[in-house]
Amino acid sequence: MKPLIALEGVNKYYGDYHALRDINLTINPGEFFSLLGPSGCGKTTLLRTIAGFEDVSDGVVTIGDRDMAGVPANLRPTNMVFQSYAIFPHLTVAENVAFGLRKRPDIDRKTAVPEALAMVGLAGYGGRAAHALSGGQRQRVALARALILKPKVLLLDEPLSALDKKMREQMQVELMKLQRHVGITFILVTHDQEEALVMSDRIAVMFEGRIGQLADAETLYRRPCSRQVAEFIGKMNFLPAQVDAQTATVAGLGRAPITPDQLPEGDASVAGIRPEALSILFDGETSPAEEIAGVVDEVVYYGDMTYYDVRVAGIDAPLNIAMKNVIGRPVLEIGDQTRVGWDPRSLILLR
Ligand code: ATP
Repeated sequence: MKPLIALEGVNKYYGDYHALRDINLTINPGEFFSLLGPSGCGKTTLLRTIAGFEDVSDGVVTIGDRDMAGVPANLRPTNMVFQSYAIFPHLTVAENVAFGLRKRPDIDRKTAVPEALAMVGLAGYGGRAAHALSGGQRQRVALARALILKPKVLLLDEPLSALDKKMREQMQVELMKLQRHVGITFILVTHDQEEALVMSDRIAVMFEGRIGQLADAETLYRRPCSRQVAEFIGKMNFLPAQVDAQTATVAGLGRAPITPDQLPEGDASVAGIRPEALSILFDGETSPAEEIAGVVDEVVYYGDMTYYDVRVAGIDAPLNIAMKNVIGRPVLEIGDQTRVGWDPRSLILLR
């Protein structure tokens, strides 16, 4: 597929500060693409260079075959939804949405506004006062206002961060559905890895102005390319390891066979294993692969899940284990002796 957006060798300096370092990426038409990373890593700066709110110091930004150098934001086929979504409280919902059309007298607001509202699930809300809306509804109004111009690319800077957890989770699913429905390219900035994993076709994980890894959610989770990415995406037990072509000897877990596709480039010295890839073996249960003995050090009950810390011989820090709670299976207590099952196929070997 021919990419819609391409960044080649993009660098951005603020004075001496090197905010974007040699960014190379392409984004496809209709893709839900996320920029994910810790605060200050350059996500917003990268989004703003695509939007045209920032010039690049070096490199090329192309959108739809056109070099964007010198093209101002309002002439780019992009539109931005900001974190503080700037709804005018004294206006109606329809007036807020129509604000998106202020520079476009050619578009008929009588049809465009209801169309945009229907798109975001607010059909019939046009006459309502904006100040009376919930946070989630305001967010939808902001989306409708951005979508009414039918941009090729919608840029979203932490659009859900002002919402509470429940509303945020609901809006994640709605945004994803909306993006599929309208079919335009979404580029989302977020520091919330769960949000990025849930919504995106592909994610660029950024650290200190660089892209650490660019992949789909499952690859990032199962095959992080570095310890930095692995630490940022989900939870992980990191254990010192000695690795050769066929076996890994992992501190605390023991020696087990591995397959060539598990080997990273270069020498592996650390094995990562996700909490859900370890299991507590209850009476009578046997591991399908390997098992070790341990003692329960901490128990955190979450209703659907229980998180255990289990001490095993050979490592200082306890293993973090996530167990789904099922009927008939007890919740262990601190001090209980237990056995831990693990499968070498779930080892993530890192340099
Ligand atoms: P956050 O999630 O906190 O918004 P971010 O990953 O979006 O972080 P950016 O806002 O892109 O990070 O900022 C990246 C770095 O560039 C930061 O160290 C920031 O202080 C710096 N920076 C951003 N804008 C400017 C500016 N206009 N002038 C100088 N430095 C800036």
